[in-house]
Amino acid sequence: MVKRNPHVAKLHGNYLFPEIQRHSKAFVKANPQASLIHLGIGDTTEPLPSFITNRLVHAAKQLGTEEGYTGYGPEEGHYSLRKAIAETVYHNKFQPEEIFISDGTNSDIGRLQILFGTDLRLGVQDPSYPVYIDTGIIMGQSHGFDSSSQKYKNISYMSCNPSNHFFPTLSEVNPPDLFYFCSPNNPTGAVATFSQLRELVQFAKKHRIIIVFDTAYASYIQDPTLPRSIYDIEEAKEVAIELGSFSKMAGFTGVRLGWSVVPFALQFDDGHSIHRDWNRVHSTFFNGASNIAQAGGLAILEKEGQQEIQKLIRYYMDNGALIQKTFEDLGYEVYGGKNAPYVWVRFPKKKSWETFLFLLEKAHVVTTPGSGFGPSGEEFIRISSFGKRKNIEEAAHRLHHLLSH
Ligand code: PLP
Repeated sequence: MVKRNPHVAKLHGNYLFPEIQRHSKAFVKANPQASLIHLGIGDTTEPLPSFITNRLVHAAKQLGTEEGYTGYGPEEGHYSLRKAIAETVYHNKFQPEEIFISDGTNSDIGRLQILFGTDLRLGVQDPSYPVYIDTGIIMGQSHGFDSSSQKYKNISYMSCNPSNHFFPTLSEVNPPDLFYFCSPNNPTGAVATFSQLRELVQFAKKHRIIIVFDTAYASYIQDPTLPRSIYDIEEAKEVAIELGSFSKMAGFTGVRLGWSVVPFALQFDDGHSIHRDWNRVHSTFFNGASNIAQAGGLAILEKEGQQEIQKLIRYYMDNGALIQKTFEDLGYEVYGGKNAPYVWVRFPKKKSWETFLFLLEKAHVVTTPGSGFGPSGEEFIRISSFGKRKNIEEAAHRLHHLLSH
């Protein structure tokens, strides 16, 4: 009989978001009259704008014609899209060949670890997006879960909390080999400043760390003095891979499209090119993103597409402002929201799962418990700005009513 992969067996508990769904469904089953408002999972809700939709439709129609039909494309993605990303997002700091198109950042997060094998120390911001650690566990980067610390062994958890302005105290951490860093961070909404990123890049250079910089929410940064890419720091090309996504940028969570930047300058300790191996791994595990989705990606990067998505982003940011105000008016400590689509609220001395259940049962509002993102998320709740305005207003009303009594 085939044996279970022992690394998969090490995963502790269920993946966070199905767990939240399980609680919500159980609650609705027991209380069929309840109308839940879902501000837990960060999924976009607004329809795609017309310029982008028309391009998707056009690309699909082309496939139904003799002259427009195409089969497999290049595994690395269409050159036109790689070039458009190099120009629009990175202002030609990279060659199109340094950019690899994927079906979204999630797949890249896990696939990237294949490059480095299993004898690797992973580092993450604590709290952070759970997929970094979970894919690492599946790859075999840990001996198991330690219940007393609520941490996996052999993983560097770098605490990010209000006292260090949500940036890890690098002088105190055990340097990892591969460091997943997300800015704007999911769940805290914190955005690293230029000086923090400079410190991060110097730390990586000193300890020969590779940073995987996740920019899934970069388009939500409103403050022009904040960096949107690790490559805004010149030397980052020597130490960082960057992941980008069209999901939250343009409502492509269901269409599926993203990219990775793996600079030519990146090397393994033996001097071999990381880019060359990524080309090999990426094209072995992935047969190229959907040609329809890639046509949509090109439309997003054009002027009209950019104008359309700014409206979408504004809509979600206004939702976030409403959520922030609700909690601020009630005297809560509120973080995030201003340059990110997540609001991070502290409920002092309360376990985050207890707060999650309290808000679910008393306000019928689904949030995400902070501890699901790491032990430093205890006492916090993440509230997503993605949602229909009328639902956000209703949730704000219910939360205000519940928490002001
Ligand atoms: N990275 C972060 C930090 C996320 O929060 C998410 C999705 O919520 C992803 C990546 C996944 O992005 P994609 O839809 O491109 O797979």
